[in-house]
This record gives sequence, C-alpha cells and structure tokens, in this order.
Amino acid sequence: MRVMEKASAKINLTLDVLHKRPDGYHEVEMIMTMVDLADRIEMKELDRDAIIISSQAGYIPLDEKNLAFQAARLIKDRYDVKQGVYIHLDKKIPVAAGLAGGSSDAAATLRGLNRLWRLGITDGELRTLGAELGSDVPFCVTGGTAIARGRGEKLEFIDSPPQCWVVLAKPPINVSTADVYGKLNASRIAKHPDTAAVAEAIRSKDYHSLCDGLGNVLEEVTLSLYPEVRQLKNCMERLGADGVLMSGSGPTVFALCSKEKKAQRIYNGLRGFCKEVYAVRMLTGEHAAP
Ligand code: ATP
Repeated sequence: MRVMEKASAKINLTLDVLHKRPDGYHEVEMIMTMVDLADRIEMKELDRDAIIISSQAGYIPLDEKNLAFQAARLIKDRYDVKQGVYIHLDKKIPVAAGLAGGSSDAAATLRGLNRLWRLGITDGELRTLGAELGSDVPFCVTGGTAIARGRGEKLEFIDSPPQCWVVLAKPPINVSTADVYGKLNASRIAKHPDTAAVAEAIRSKDYHSLCDGLGNVLEEVTLSLYPEVRQLKNCMERLGADGVLMSGSGPTVFALCSKEKKAQRIYNGLRGFCKEVYAVRMLTGEHAAP
C-alpha cells in the first residue's frame, strides 16, 4: 500500500505578538493561509519496523531531526503501530524560509499515515498530536485560513481570502526564528497589525483592505538584522505589488497581486535579484485544504 499527500506552504497575512509569557513563549495572534506551492509526500509500507526518510533535497536532515520522521514516530508510538514506513519528501517549499515547510511535511505525514494504517484518527485528534511537534503543525493538518492564537496552536478557522496571485521570494540567507523572537521587545512594538480588521476584510472579500492591513511585527527585527530583506521588500513595492509582507520570521517576502500580468512582471523583475522566486495562486475555497 502507498499513499500520497500534498504539503502546502503557509504565509502569514498578519503576525502579532501580544506579550511574552511566563513560560518563555510569546503569545501570538496571526492570520495564516496556504498558497499553491507544495511538497509531495509519498508513504509506503515497509515489511520491517523502521522509519526511512529520503528526499531529493540535499539540505534537510533525513534522520530523527526531520519533522516527517518525528510525526511518523509519534503516530507509531501513540497508536502502537508495529509496521514500518518509507517516506519520500519531494521538496518544493524553500527550507528555513518562514513558510512552515517542515511543519507542513509533518502534518501531511500525520494525515497520510492515518490513511495508510487505517487508524481512524479525527482531524481534531491529528491537530492535538501535531501540537506536540510544533506550533504551526496543527494549522497545517487542516489548511485553509485561520486566526492562530496562543503559541499558534489555538485555531479559529475563517473564510478564505479573495483569489489573487502571490509572488514569493527568499533571499539566500538563513534566519533563526528563535533569534528573531529573542531580539523582539514585545512591550515596545511600534505598530501592531489590526487582526480583526484583516479578518473582516477577508470575510467580506475586500481585497484592497486586505492588502492595506497586512502586518508582521517580526519584520522590524528581521529587516534591521538583514538589509537584503528590506531591499527585497522595497523592490516588490517599486514593481507595483498591491501588498507586500514578510512571512513568519522571514526571510521570505511575498507580494499580493490581483492581476496575473502584474504578478508576472514582479516575478521577472525579481529573478535578477534573487534565485528562489515563485509566482503561485492563493489557495482558496475548496482548494484551500492541503
Ligand atoms: P516556520 O515557518 O514553521 O518557522 P520555516 O519555513 O522557517 O518554518 P522549515 O523549512 O520548516 O522552516 O525548516 C526549519 C528547520 O527544520 C531547518 O533547519 C530544517 O533543517 C529542519 N527540518 C526538519 N524537517 C524538515 C522538513 N521535512 N523539511 C524542511 N526542513 C526540515
């Protein structure tokens, strides 16, 4: 038996940090949604009790550090599964980019193994399992669009945003999420995004208010540490994007465009600037599930 799952990339339409909690984590409030850029995960039964990971991408761990491996281990242990599995990750989502690639792979592995081993685990239970692997995994289990709170694991699902193009560009630098959060002074954030207003713009399919409301409090940290991310953002704005924002802790920056021609122009304009550039559709409506 063999199953395939699609693991889509997420972007943040807003990312707010409300305060630092006594347990050291930051209390966040953010709107997450998925774009049509995805890894493909193939899972095949093995005739021995082992978890084997392979990938064409040379730059990700293939051992217990891989989030797909951790997802398989968790589900095997929790449901006492004796069979083994071979997992192949066809990576398309840039790594360490702020697009939750690893979390989405882990979520797809949970969904796929639930099917492969006919475990009958509900979506809600899969999200609870996912929270043990990482804050973004519960969202990636279900996909769609959600306001995430707490550490990112408390989800309120909302309507999909209006259909549009998303041009993503990842500069060739590695940004540590822990480092960015560590350098953020939660009590001195200059401008918080208005999450409720953006959620309302999404509900009423008001594309222009959505573009105007995009906001991420981690931008001020990452942009001051890495001037090339600021240059990239400025470049997208100059090329005429309707809205531009950094996703997660970066370094990926995305531009929203209602017209395909404009998305193409921005894509072409960025290609000389940056190697990893993608022009994709926002995942909306029935296509929103991963
Ligand atoms: P987030 O937006 O959730 O912070 P990210 O997009 O910034 O995630 P990932 O692509 O998930 O970052 O990679 C973060 C780290 O996780 C990398 O250092 C990578 O080596 C490791 N990793 C573990 N498993 C995977 C996987 N399946 N795919 C990509 N990276 C993985």
